[in-house]
Amino acid sequence: MSDQYLQSLFGLSGRVAVVTGGGGVLCGGMSRALGRTGANVAVLDLAREAAQAVADEIREGGGTAIAVQCDVLDRASIEAAAETVLEAFGAADILINGAGGNKRQATTSTDLSFFDLPADAIQWVFNLNFVGTLLPSQVFGRRMAEEGEGVVLNVSSMNAFRPLTRIPAYSAAKAAVSNFTQWLAVHMAQEYSPSIRVNALAPGFFLTEQNRFLLTDPNTQELTERGRTIIDHTPMGRFGAPADLVGAALWLLSPASAFVTGIVVPVDGGFSAFSGV
Ligand code: NAD
Repeated sequence: MSDQYLQSLFGLSGRVAVVTGGGGVLCGGMSRALGRTGANVAVLDLAREAAQAVADEIREGGGTAIAVQCDVLDRASIEAAAETVLEAFGAADILINGAGGNKRQATTSTDLSFFDLPADAIQWVFNLNFVGTLLPSQVFGRRMAEEGEGVVLNVSSMNAFRPLTRIPAYSAAKAAVSNFTQWLAVHMAQEYSPSIRVNALAPGFFLTEQNRFLLTDPNTQELTERGRTIIDHTPMGRFGAPADLVGAALWLLSPASAFVTGIVVPVDGGFSAFSGV
């Protein structure tokens, strides 16, 4: 094994990375890190300004990035985004399916029982997380199949392994994302090319906009009972920070994981290993 091989293991310089939900907290962090590696980053988000802010930051830091408004639930919008990426960078080697989230109306509470969760809220959460992962994988995956190489990284969650209380639609949707990660890994390797890899990250608990209402009191910013329970069940004793995902992401996106496909990597401070006793 040469030194040159070891130095190139994590190399992403010149690769083109497309990040959906790239304007958000976790995927904004991954986009910025990718920019620092020398990858060309396409920051895709429904929220145009959020995507633009991340792309601007990458450029200000000396990296290469574009912002593209894109709705991961609308195939025409994804196809238009893919065209923009190809025009700008001539390739799309990496896809991070990061757009996702939960909403209050699909979350049980003292005011909203499981029996009354509205079907449209359940559908919204399922679609955003699962269908919003599948559609971009179709559009960008087709190109990877033509090229014979590529890397997809999905964003699953702790609740895919064991569901969390109160969030049935989000738990089921992320379980579907993990299942689809394995399915697509096998399909791409067998039907198209063993050089197309598909993996997922399963973040533990990161305090972001989608879960702040569940984990902290809006008036005092103190932890809710649920927030406290999570910290008590996380052996490392804290929430994750966006930077905590970067190492696992760069490993799964780079040649360092050349023989790894179809796995879901927990990045959770030990939450999934701890029985609570
Ligand atoms: P976030 O809300 O900060 O980011 C999500 C981004 O997705 C937002 O910028 C939003 O505008 C974008 N988005 C929403 N709908 C979209 C659509 N239809 N098309 C394109 N973009 C759309 O949330 P985050 O916490 O950074 O979450 C990122 C990913 O990580 C999500 O898939 C989430 O489910 C997952 N996750 C988060 C946690 C956590 O603790 N925060 C834990 C596990 C998994």
